[in-house]
Amino acid sequence: MRRHISLALLAATTALSGAFAAQAQDLNLYSSRHYDTDERLYSDFTEATGITINRIEGNADELIARMQAEGANSPADVLLTVDTSRLQRAKEAGVLQAIDSATLEERVPANLQDSDNHWFGFSQRARIIFYAKDRVENPPMDYLSLADPQYKGMVCHRSSSNVYSQTLLASVIENHGVEAARDWAAGVVDNFARDPEGGDTDQLRGLISGQCDISIANSYYFARALRTDVSGLSADIEQIEWVFPAADAEGAHMNLSGGGVAANAPNRDNAIAFLEYLTSEQAQVYFSAGNDEFPVVPGVELSESVAKLGEFKADDVNLSEVAKNLPEAQKIFNEVSWK
Ligand code: FE
Repeated sequence: MRRHISLALLAATTALSGAFAAQAQDLNLYSSRHYDTDERLYSDFTEATGITINRIEGNADELIARMQAEGANSPADVLLTVDTSRLQRAKEAGVLQAIDSATLEERVPANLQDSDNHWFGFSQRARIIFYAKDRVENPPMDYLSLADPQYKGMVCHRSSSNVYSQTLLASVIENHGVEAARDWAAGVVDNFARDPEGGDTDQLRGLISGQCDISIANSYYFARALRTDVSGLSADIEQIEWVFPAADAEGAHMNLSGGGVAANAPNRDNAIAFLEYLTSEQAQVYFSAGNDEFPVVPGVELSESVAKLGEFKADDVNLSEVAKNLPEAQKIFNEVSWK
């Protein structure tokens, strides 16, 4: 089975990367994706192409600062990170370069890539509404409804310093305008059950502990708790129900994970081959099977735990446009005192 997959992958990747497949070379990967399961993505690429991946992992902002400090001498070939706001930060910091790849243009939907080809999305997570089903009779069916006074004292959310929060608000601005976004943010703050704190899993744990009744989190944290034992969550996970927001309107906000080729990449061709490989059927399947994410390439099969979340409408707003609203989003967070 394993051999079968490898041969298929070899064929796919050879087709993608052409001449580079046969050459034993290096690829220096800077990654802030913090998932152990990504190992498989890297080893399959090496097996198929003979290209060795040297990996440096760290916090996204530290990696970007490091690339800036290294400048023209930076060994970085590829930067992988999560969230549109970080990808945009990397672009604006000048550590990525525009690349020309027909494969990436064709495989990655246009709304999930930078308009100047500095970054491309490879996997997505739906940022959706979760609620305690025994305590919430009428859950909010869209993001704007989270600000409804009927939910006063019920909502848990992450802090405004978190990139997921920033990109969600930037997308509310894109879809509903600045005024509506400001009113919304102020209303959500009024509905907080507690000051913003913790990560996505902590928001879900708050629903179990009773600290709050409604929260927002990325789908993969919930899918992971269905698949493996996450403390304070998995044992009582049947208490939690979820809504894919705005099914009749813009759809669920999709959080993007992606990357780009480093501005001074010494192994530029390998870097492009690697990004192209991430859009191959094999790699796309693995984003779902390994880390409970949604593939960006349409039609790729979902893992069981991800499929369990159900079908939904994904917001197809252009994330490159959403990224332009990030400074305005930060301003609004400050104005409404969203901690
Ligand atoms: Fe995350």
